[in-house]
Amino acid sequence: MADGLLIADGTVLTGGPAGVVLGSVYVKDGLVVEVPSRRRRASTVIDASGCLVVPGFVQCHVHLCQTLFRGLADDMDVVEWLRERIWPLEQAHNEASIRASAELGIAELLLGGTTTVLGMETTRYTDVAFDAAAALGIRARLGPALMDRLEPGTEMVGRGTDEAIADLHALISDWNGAAGGRLGVAVSPRGPRNATPELWAECVGLAARHGLVMHTHVNENREQAERLARDGDGRDVHALDRYGALGPALVMAHGVWLDATERALVRDRGAHICHCPSSNLKLASGVAPVPEYLAAGINVALGTDGAACSNTLSALDEMRLAALLHKPTAGPAAMAAPVVFAMATRGGARALGLSDRIGSIEVGKAADLVVVSRRGAHCRPTAGGDPYSDLVYACGDRDVTDVVVDGRHVVGDGHLLTQSLPDILDGAERERRALLGRVGR
Ligand SMILES: [Zn+2]
Repeated sequence: MADGLLIADGTVLTGGPAGVVLGSVYVKDGLVVEVPSRRRRASTVIDASGCLVVPGFVQCHVHLCQTLFRGLADDMDVVEWLRERIWPLEQAHNEASIRASAELGIAELLLGGTTTVLGMETTRYTDVAFDAAAALGIRARLGPALMDRLEPGTEMVGRGTDEAIADLHALISDWNGAAGGRLGVAVSPRGPRNATPELWAECVGLAARHGLVMHTHVNENREQAERLARDGDGRDVHALDRYGALGPALVMAHGVWLDATERALVRDRGAHICHCPSSNLKLASGVAPVPEYLAAGINVALGTDGAACSNTLSALDEMRLAALLHKPTAGPAAMAAPVVFAMATRGGARALGLSDRIGSIEVGKAADLVVVSRRGAHCRPTAGGDPYSDLVYACGDRDVTDVVVDGRHVVGDGHLLTQSLPDILDGAERERRALLGRVGR
């Protein structure tokens, strides 16, 4: 009897040593078994003729809890954005609104070809976000935002140190390694100054003991970075180094304003930067000098940040923007399409310590695969063309037809297969109205 899954007759951008391969990808028991595959019968066959087959996109900075806030906090300065909108909305969340927010975010991510996400959630209910990720089928590393210390001007009630640590321990025992390793806990102090040195020390210890990724915000806003640099801890990256957090397990969102000493430290310690160009532009934070980071040997991943600041969670939109944004300063050859493709796939996998499992289409790796159509007018003609160019400069979420995560077919012919999308959208409308009621809007 035929079994397994065959993605047939595509242009496969393996992201591995094989480069671009014409043909099929055969998947069985969650793994890539053969590429290019000989003709096989399979229980599921996806026709990829006229399509690209690419490794699932890895986004290394998202807030699923903010998907319900889409369009509620536009055109604001980051400090005002946090204080006036984001903190009150996050604090008004309950279990039902977190579930609706996470489901909507994950549905959007999967429909756009993101198969792995590093998510920083609010201070509570991360178990509910894990539950949504388990059901919908995305690969995720999630953690509650840890805040036991208040940064002046961005007050939000966090949790006491002991309560935050107890929650983290419970999440690790309940969710780390769940769904066959598809889910895991990310230790996520919100920023260098949002957690006490004691909590940072506990986080570093837990991450080392359980092999967890760490996730935080670094040097996003220039004025904020300079103001914080004047306090006793110095600049963000120096503070992180003093906490013992700066190393290969750490993913730092934004990194817009690293000075020369910070860049050298990041490179020497092997920490990772997640570039979030939409968020950085919309909040007027600035443009992270990513071509310089790459030239220095720093690993850079890509992320959209939350829907409260970037409005969409589209990996392909973010890739296009990342490719275009740096050219006026670094020249037209900077951030070429294959470089951006690598950031969105292998770069993300490396940042999460998952290079041996995801980030490229290779035999023995997890089957996290995306089919992107080049059939539309905006991608034609394709004859003699460059598939990386089409993917980065021309394709969008509307071209994602099929998505496979860990061998499971989660998006088919542009439709979410793991849960009812209309139910998710209804739930999001209902919970957003209730959430706005709780904040008096
Ligand atoms: Zn963020």
